[in-house]
Amino acid sequence: MSFTIALTVEEALTALARGARPIAGGSDLVVGARHGKAPLPDHLVAIDRIDSLRTVTVDDGGLAIGAGVSHDTIERHPQIAANWSALADGSALVGSPATRHVGTIGGNICNASPAMDTGAALVVLAATVELASVGGTRLVPIGELWTGPGRTAVRADELCTAVHLPSPPAASGSAYLRLEYRRAMEIAVVGAGAAVTLAPGGTVAAVRVALSAVAPTIVEVDGLPTGDLAAVGEAAAALASEQARPISDVRASDRYRRHAVGVIARRAVLAAARRAGGESIAVPVNRALGIGAAS
Ligand SMILES: Cc1cc2nc3c(=O)[nH]c(=O)nc-3n(C[C@H](O)[C@H](O)[C@H](O)COP(=O)(O)OP(=O)(O)OC[C@H]3O[C@@H](n4cnc5c(N)ncnc54)[C@H](O)[C@@H]3O)c2cc1C
Repeated sequence: MSFTIALTVEEALTALARGARPIAGGSDLVVGARHGKAPLPDHLVAIDRIDSLRTVTVDDGGLAIGAGVSHDTIERHPQIAANWSALADGSALVGSPATRHVGTIGGNICNASPAMDTGAALVVLAATVELASVGGTRLVPIGELWTGPGRTAVRADELCTAVHLPSPPAASGSAYLRLEYRRAMEIAVVGAGAAVTLAPGGTVAAVRVALSAVAPTIVEVDGLPTGDLAAVGEAAAALASEQARPISDVRASDRYRRHAVGVIARRAVLAAARRAGGESIAVPVNRALGIGAAS
């Protein structure tokens, strides 16, 4: 067993090339090991002290978030809340304040839970993930990253260093909502992210919807129409329910999840459209709209 603390990306990549596994906040890796999900890897490299992984940059190219940025930072970042709101909604729902302080965006992505709360937002916001190894760097569209529950296209010798999101077009808004049975320390029963761009006159010029906790990976809804907002919302509900492939477990039956994801998808579209129209809805939308568990 070995435990290395990397202070630079290069140090981390060298450790990965020698077979170590990265640990960021440890809120999946360590907690999972304690719960008997999987033993801790024999060789770990801690990446939480690498300053360059903890930066958020906004420029003409869009948003770049270092993989080591915490959910708490994302939730509180004014430009992310204003322009990439769905991601702020998702991060703001993760666990408790303590979980959000230690849990990172890179860990959430690489842990690849189908119920992860940033996944649907990253899909509708067209994120690209930056992966580095001693051999170089590559960019992977988020939709190609997850290959199954807990499985990704990230090679064992690669470190996720950043997530890139393009600037949304004018008159755009996004939102991520989840159905939850309680208001903290909960995993999404189902979740949906939506990004909407409005045309002059308030009709929908472009829309994307992605779903969490209803398939082995985050799924993007195909075949959404544009045009009248109410009709787009209804179509999102119908198509989300149709394209979901949920399981039954202790928290919900597949039938219930299939129905609920339609309701949540429609609400995500409507909330995203309200933000696209300039309305300020606080992060996270779940709390602002009173969705999910009663307070
Ligand atoms: C009480 C509790 C509540 C939670 N609630 C939620 C919730 O509501 N919603 C939700 O989505 N999640 C939730 N989680 C899960 C967890 O907090 C998040 O997934 C968090 O973002 C994980 O980040 P981390 O830095 O702690 O990851 P770690 O545990 O450090 O790592 C997770 C995995 O990713 C790999 N990894 C980490 N960083 C990198 C990197 N940069 N490059 C390559 N691989 C990497 C690790 O090797 C490991 O396999 C909860 C966890 C706990 C303990």
